[in-house]
Amino acid sequence: AWAAVPAGPPDPILGVTEAFKADKDPRKINLGVGAYRDEQGKPYILPSVKKAEELVRTSLPDKEYLPITGLADFTKNAALLAYGADSEPLKQGAISVTQSISGTGALRIGGAFLARHYPHSKAIYLPVPTWGNHIPLFQDSGLEVRGYRYYDKDTVGLDFEGLKADLKAAPEQSIVLLHACAHNPTGVDPTPAQWAEISDIIKEKKLFPFFDMAYQGFASGNTTKDAFAVRHFVSQGHQIALAQSFAKNMGLYGERIGAFSLTTASPEEKARVDSQLKIVIRPMYSNPPLHGARIANTILSTPELYTQWEGEVKGMADRIISMREKLYNALTHDLKTPGEWGHIKSQIGMFSFTGLTAPQTKVLAEKAHVYMTSNGRISMAGLNGGNIQYFAESVDKADPD
Ligand code: PMP
Repeated sequence: AWAAVPAGPPDPILGVTEAFKADKDPRKINLGVGAYRDEQGKPYILPSVKKAEELVRTSLPDKEYLPITGLADFTKNAALLAYGADSEPLKQGAISVTQSISGTGALRIGGAFLARHYPHSKAIYLPVPTWGNHIPLFQDSGLEVRGYRYYDKDTVGLDFEGLKADLKAAPEQSIVLLHACAHNPTGVDPTPAQWAEISDIIKEKKLFPFFDMAYQGFASGNTTKDAFAVRHFVSQGHQIALAQSFAKNMGLYGERIGAFSLTTASPEEKARVDSQLKIVIRPMYSNPPLHGARIANTILSTPELYTQWEGEVKGMADRIISMREKLYNALTHDLKTPGEWGHIKSQIGMFSFTGLTAPQTKVLAEKAHVYMTSNGRISMAGLNGGNIQYFAESVDKADPD
């Protein structure tokens, strides 16, 4: 039956890890995949997560099915984390929330819901570049994927004029995907003042904002600060869609825990949206897994654990920020590598768009055993005190200038 099935290309991000694993050199570094590593280069289980798991285990909960939209306390607390206690639609009971298979699942539920129920458009505008999976994800959801300018290669920063021009030129009522914070892959975020302008354009053009918030707390170390864009838009009266992930900020990658929400006009409208979300989700996977929801909810609903978790998120963010500082200093001051490296320090979140070219990334892999995606994106979390000097020297040698 499958004689005519052509071999597909490997995943551009997960393929980097395959190449890394096959390399036997002890100096090898994997800067491909976006998972946090501690100062020893090891995966990190948050102590608050360990405690929450212990609480879950000792409460001996059953293994019954969850409802289609997941654990109700979890979805309530996830929405509170994202929107904040002052949020008008939250206070009114007008936010429809469902648990999801992490951020990816949230985006996919959102894509499918919008494709079926958003009455005005099938077009979704994604920043260029964006997280690679956004494109097939929204195409497979039944939306029509288009792009808006986001990144300026020359300044290694935001192309704000291009962004504004493209949003103004988009047909009214199109959907616009926005990275809430820590834009992946560039690490370049709008400033609060730029967000305010983007909000105004979106309002003027009646565009529909869909936020992808995969890194709340992970960008600045503060969950409130990282929710600025989402909360600003809601406070300006926008109705939004939101995908949340607890993969990065709780280190729950493989537990696949996230949430999708829509702000609506009233509790009555919310109830209708809830019913249709269930109809979208039921034939996809029936209902979501239990364990991650219980862990995340235990942290979000236990004051001491919540405080501890906030400290641990900040710890992760701060370690990444200190690696940015160290890398910048090594390249600029120690090695005097040609070029302007200020963006390493100013970019936000897990990733840095180094400006390294595809041929340079190839040389780095082959000669220095340093692995990254071919667009020059590095996961800052893969750097630590033990490998950062070697990495900086390898970049210095790979620089063609
Ligand atoms: N959106 C963005 C921008 C991401 O970077 C990621 C993770 N790489 C995700 C969504 C989804 O991740 P997950 O499904 O693991 O939560």
